[in-house]
Amino acid sequence: MHEIVVPDPSMVVLIGPAGAGKSTFAACHASPDEILSSDGFRLAIAGDAADQRASGLAFRRLHNELARRLAACRLTVVDATNLTPHARRVLMSRARDADIAAVAIVFDLPAAVVQARNAARVGRVVPAEVVDEHLRRLRALLDPADPTRMLVAEGFDPVVVLSDPVVIDAVRVVRRPA
Ligand code: ATP
Ligand code: MG
Repeated sequence: MHEIVVPDPSMVVLIGPAGAGKSTFAACHASPDEILSSDGFRLAIAGDAADQRASGLAFRRLHNELARRLAACRLTVVDATNLTPHARRVLMSRARDADIAAVAIVFDLPAAVVQARNAARVGRVVPAEVVDEHLRRLRALLDPADPTRMLVAEGFDPVVVLSDPVVIDAVRVVRRPA
């Protein structure tokens, strides 16, 4: 049994390339109102989840809604790639303002699996070179000798790195009162 124990409330930040399965995982383990996704905000703003011109406003709204939910002590899942230090810093500051724990769940799947999942998607396929760039950023984040080190240093606790698709499908998320 593969268990991920998350404090409740907490901010749960999903980290991984496009196509890795973040939204699928979120939908399995959280209710729709608990999930703030960049795609969802872009869709609401521009009518198109892939419209990058809506990203600035989408993230401002996501950050505002995150702050509101954390202030109300509601567990919240942030579903975006979250691959840049800047993206994570903004989220971490919202969690610190609310004095809420920040959990990182990293999707570190083989590049071939990610590219294949992305290519096979119905609707929104992200260009393969964009996924390559995401995979490079992920490599830079995960020290092979200690994959959780940088995220722990950023303030995430716990940090869970998922590398095996079979394990991901078997994961059980257990919420523990904070
Ligand atoms: P993005 O960052 O672009 O939103 P994502 O990480 O949210 O991507 P998903 O949309 O969840 O990725 O999944 C990408 C594709 O992979 C989808 O077609 C989905 O059905 C498939 N997929 C996701 N998780 C799994 C899984 N555990 N097993 C098999 N296929 C999966
Ligand atoms: Mg998604």
